[in-house]
Amino acid sequence: MTRPVAVIGAGPFGLSTAAHLRARGIPVRVFGDPMVSWRDHMPEGMLLKSTPAASNFDCPQPGHTLADYCDAAGIRRLVADEDIIPAETFIGYGEWFQQRLVPGLEQVRVVAVDRDKSGGFELKLDSGETFTARAVVVATGLSGLAHLPAELKGAAADGPAPTSPVSHSSQHHGLGRFEGKELIVIGAGQSALETAALAAEAGARVRVIARGRGRVAFGAPPWDQPKLRPESPFGNAWSLWALSYYPHPYRYLPEATRHYLVRRVLGPLGAWWLRERFETAVQVQDVERVVAAEAPDGSPVLTVRTHGGRTERLGADHVIAATGYRVDIAAMDFLGHELRTRLAVSRGTPKLGPGYVSSVPGLYFTGLPAASSYGPVMRFVCGTEFASPRLAKHLAAAHG
Ligand SMILES: Cc1cc2nc3c(=O)[nH]c(=O)nc-3n(C[C@H](O)[C@H](O)[C@H](O)COP(=O)(O)OP(=O)(O)OC[C@H]3O[C@@H](n4cnc5c(N)ncnc54)[C@H](O)[C@@H]3O)c2cc1C
Repeated sequence: MTRPVAVIGAGPFGLSTAAHLRARGIPVRVFGDPMVSWRDHMPEGMLLKSTPAASNFDCPQPGHTLADYCDAAGIRRLVADEDIIPAETFIGYGEWFQQRLVPGLEQVRVVAVDRDKSGGFELKLDSGETFTARAVVVATGLSGLAHLPAELKGAAADGPAPTSPVSHSSQHHGLGRFEGKELIVIGAGQSALETAALAAEAGARVRVIARGRGRVAFGAPPWDQPKLRPESPFGNAWSLWALSYYPHPYRYLPEATRHYLVRRVLGPLGAWWLRERFETAVQVQDVERVVAAEAPDGSPVLTVRTHGGRTERLGADHVIAATGYRVDIAAMDFLGHELRTRLAVSRGTPKLGPGYVSSVPGLYFTGLPAASSYGPVMRFVCGTEFASPRLAKHLAAAHG
């Protein structure tokens, strides 16, 4: 029997890649919980920061854009830059896309991937099944990569959790549990600011602690974008335009520049539509840095250094660290030890060549783990437009 390609992940990148491979007639087995990052690891009531045009899953089959889904579902068409997408609608879009273009999705976890003797891969599923694949695409997105800065670990001895003094923003969906409570949210990105606004709307008293240069700021609305600069999915600017539509040369930038740009470009900035809701409900405290965290009586206390050089202690009922995600091959424990040691990495991220292939032939990475090779656009759904057709073309030529 022909060995399939295994796609690990059923978020936007996995589903888009699978649609491209299927359109080429390549047998594929796709694994994962469809849209789980959006359904379980982002706040309830969230709205997307990206515009409708930047929120399509790329695929070669026509008729599968977000607007097509809205038509099919009989809901208001989301097309203009001013149209704001509720996460619920986006999850519905992802599930609709999956049912139409990736119908055989298997909702099981891949627990191990190892090289097999014939040059392919042996995969083990949590159902107990083992099979071999000719190639593997890792599209596991945000899963397992939540980042908790070292200085917060003192108040999260057993790791962050909603029931411990410190949690990570990815561990919350409903924020109603914070009604009547004092909550500190650490971070200045959209995730921090929207989590803070939603928690305040749910009845919490919320303070955002923005560290270092990450002061709280909001983007310009579509009608206030600079007119003389080129349009990109992230706003009008030459740099954003180049990074969005021409990520090809990104791999050749110096290592330090690549990692810096992934962190800083499209970095901490709230969506234009969040400003009013945020400013009326949430307090902000800019600090130079958080020095330490402890939980002497079960409630978190942060020690912070202010911009004036003073040390202050800030207490609350709970701290949410909206401190993002860090790609680290070591955290992708489903990749076998031998495979991980053979992979060429750069600061923990896989080094990818043309067509998103890693240094192990037949092993591909897309989405967030590809950002240090193909740029910050890989952190967003619109990155599927560049990534998926190129990955599928390379894989078809090498293993089709
Ligand atoms: C709060 C927040 C807001 C965001 N807002 C936006 C936005 O407005 N616009 C935008 O473009 N981007 C946004 N993003 C980024 C967004 O999360 C990514 O663009 C997108 O979800 C990445 O898709 P993905 O397919 O790579 O991974 P994910 O969506 O994270 O999906 C990962 C998939 O991998 C599967 N998986 C993981 N491990 C295994 C395993 N071992 N075996 C089998 N399956 C596995 C999971 O079940 C899941 O199906 C936001 C992120 C956050 C945190």
